[in-house]
Amino acid sequence: AQRDGGNTLRFFESEMDARASRRMDVLSRLRGAIGRGELFLHYQPKVCTADGQVIGVEALVRWHNGDIGMIPPSDFIPLAEESGLIDEIGEWVLRRACEQGMRWQAEGLSELSIAVNLSTRQFRQERLLALVRSALEDSGLPPQRLELEITEGMLMQDPEKAAVVLRRLHELGVRISIDDFGTGYSSLSYLQRFPVHTLKVDQSFVREISNSPGAAAIVTAVISLAHSLDLCVVAEGVETEAQRRFLGDLACDYCQGYYFSRPVAAGEISALNGAEPAT
Ligand code: C2E
Ligand code: CA
Ligand code: CA
Ligand code: CA
Repeated sequence: AQRDGGNTLRFFESEMDARASRRMDVLSRLRGAIGRGELFLHYQPKVCTADGQVIGVEALVRWHNGDIGMIPPSDFIPLAEESGLIDEIGEWVLRRACEQGMRWQAEGLSELSIAVNLSTRQFRQERLLALVRSALEDSGLPPQRLELEITEGMLMQDPEKAAVVLRRLHELGVRISIDDFGTGYSSLSYLQRFPVHTLKVDQSFVREISNSPGAAAIVTAVISLAHSLDLCVVAEGVETEAQRRFLGDLACDYCQGYYFSRPVAAGEISALNGAEPAT
């Protein structure tokens, strides 16, 4: 047992070393990623549950490095957050998304809302307000078309401070969505006090909606809570017709998921213009 324990430990350590050096490697590449033009955005449509019409998109960052290939955001966003690189990446995402919103406007998609994810670190920063204001001014995007997605955790860490930040963003005219709703620990009384526009039901509940009564009950409760607080609801991760129908029956306002579309390049969103000509 003694010897096994030793081997296990040694194995564990080398495993840790390997993981740590992979992290260092990814981080050093990430540092130059913006400069080398390796980051780009994909956009996933949010559709009206009732008629399938696209009402907005969520910007999702993508990173392709020539040596190591595609790195998913779940791998590099946490690294960017820890290292502080998220400041630069987050600003880049926000500015590009606003600019793209204006390009779509020029093509006739003038109602499309553009959602951008904020990281914890960005949300805590003093300069967030100035950054959002500047991205709106520089791009010309009307504030009400910009939506910022934040998670419950960001709100609940320091609810008083979060309330101040949200109120300022609200005064700018941008909309706030609570992402991954149901996975954190929001106090419902706070939810009522924050100027929030939309709840996004986490995809873990949506995925189980047809085969887990518990998940279905949570989704039902979130939708009815949202509506009684006069909020919109988006269901995330909708993959099947059965899920869409269930959500339609519950009068869930919007859906997002592979059933409708994967995240796609900006040009594919433009193509929707053909289906929905501007008047
Ligand atoms: P999220 O904000 O919850 O984004 C939704 C994720 O679910 C996206 O993964 C999307 O591609 C995926 N998804 C959408 N529909 C479906 C579906 O029907 N089935 C399944 N299985 N998945 C679906 P992605 O793009 O890999 O992003 C993962 C996370 O990385 C995001 O979760 C968000 O937390 C973070 N992230 C992505 N882009 C950014 C960004 O620009 N800034 C920040 N701070 N975080 C970002
Ligand atoms: Ca999101
Ligand atoms: Ca989410
Ligand atoms: Ca998430």
